[in-house]
Amino acid sequence: MVQENKHEVRQQLLSKLEELTRRDSREELIRERCNDPMDQMQNRFEMDLTISVINNDWVTRKAVETALKLLEIDEYGICQDCGAEINPKRLEAIPWTTLCVYCQDEYDCSGVAAGRPSYSRAA
Ligand SMILES: [Zn+2]
Repeated sequence: MVQENKHEVRQQLLSKLEELTRRDSREELIRERCNDPMDQMQNRFEMDLTISVINNDWVTRKAVETALKLLEIDEYGICQDCGAEINPKRLEAIPWTTLCVYCQDEYDCSGVAAGRPSYSRAA
C-alpha cells in the first residue's frame, strides 16, 4: 500500500474511533432504567435497541482498532481469515473491514455479528 493512502486510511480510522467514543450510549442505558412502569414495554424495547447499538459500536470499534494495527504492520487490506486481498472498493466503503466479502458473509451467517439497527438518538 502507498504511504499517502496509508496516511489517509489511518485518518479515516482514527476519526471513526473518535465518533464511536463520542456517541457512547452507556449513559442512555442507565437513564432508561429509572422509568415509569407504565412505559415498561416501550422501555424494554428501547433498552434492547440501546444494547444492540452498544454491541454494534463495540464490534465496529474492535474492527477499527484491528485495522489500525494491521496498517502498522503493513497487513491492511488483507483478509484476516483467508489471507486474500480485500477488494479496494470494499475497503473504500468500510475502511475498518478486516475480512474479505466471502469471509464476512460466513461470519454474518454464523450469527456472531449483531444486526445493524437503524436507530437515531433522541436529541
Ligand atoms: Zn477472506
